[in-house]
Amino acid sequence: MADKFTVVACPTCGQDVEWRPEHRWRPFCCERCKLIDLGEWATERYKVPVTEQDAFDDLDSRG
Ligand SMILES: [Zn+2]
Repeated sequence: MADKFTVVACPTCGQDVEWRPEHRWRPFCCERCKLIDLGEWATERYKVPVTEQDAFDDLDSRG
């Protein structure tokens, strides 16, 4: 009975998480880990400046 469900590792803390339909936070072990992961994702985006302006300038000078 114990190994009926697939077990995955929580992306945030690495804790074993049973991949059950009623587990709303999968693949995370809990809401907190999900929020932490989303927060880090947003932070990563924020830390990496997108240099679209440079790309447009380059295209514009060529065209
Ligand atoms: Zn976790």
